[in-house]
Amino acid sequence: MAENPVIVAIDGPSGTGKSSTSKAVAVRLGLAYLDTGAQYRAMTWWMLENGIDVADRAAVAAAAAKPVIVSGTDPRSPTITVDGTDVAAPIRGQAVTAAVSAVSAVPEVRTRVTGLQRAIAAEAGGGIVVEGRDIGTTVLPDADVKIFLTASAEARAARRSAELTGKEAADVATTRADLVRRDAADAGRTTSPLAQATGAVEVDTTELTLDQVIERVVRLVDGKRRSR
Ligand code: C5P
Repeated sequence: MAENPVIVAIDGPSGTGKSSTSKAVAVRLGLAYLDTGAQYRAMTWWMLENGIDVADRAAVAAAAAKPVIVSGTDPRSPTITVDGTDVAAPIRGQAVTAAVSAVSAVPEVRTRVTGLQRAIAAEAGGGIVVEGRDIGTTVLPDADVKIFLTASAEARAARRSAELTGKEAADVATTRADLVRRDAADAGRTTSPLAQATGAVEVDTTELTLDQVIERVVRLVDGKRRSR
């Protein structure tokens, strides 16, 4: 495999099964895995920890170079640290989720995080699956395979609600409203908005099981590898 590295970009809004699909595809094909949403969440966690007003774009921009964000790319146990602290759990909380779209819309943040992403992809000698919102359009436009996952807002809200437990749990209607708001912010921002890349294969996951989505993506990657 090392002689034939493949770069797979998987984009789409939240609740489409992007993370589960990306990790499983990477495991199946022996590739590394990068969750770029986790990097934006880690940046946001650091801003909140350091008392930076995330609505103040200038303050966010001025701090964007400060946090040291390190991603572990084993798809069986991906990790993320900020300044050496394991933030895998707190970046999934509601405080970070509510603030992340404001932070990720700041161009200085995107430039910094995009640089980290390209470096990780370049170092993944055996190939990598990179999931996010702008991987096929901006971060890795020359990716070998580009996938754009979609699903109805209802299906996405139901999946996301099922993932949230305990004090973070919310009803499906609230979750749906949060998703729609975050999608609109991510798709409407000026710098590298959420969008389907040229050449991306759209996979609508609304009526598919996770296994069916994984199978479809694995087949697309295998087909691409054979044709090279
Ligand atoms: O995928 P996840 O929901 O964890 O992403 C969190 C947020 O990070 C998104 O809502 C978006 O604002 C931002 N993001 C981004 N570009 C990416 C990945 C995530 O702007 N490539």
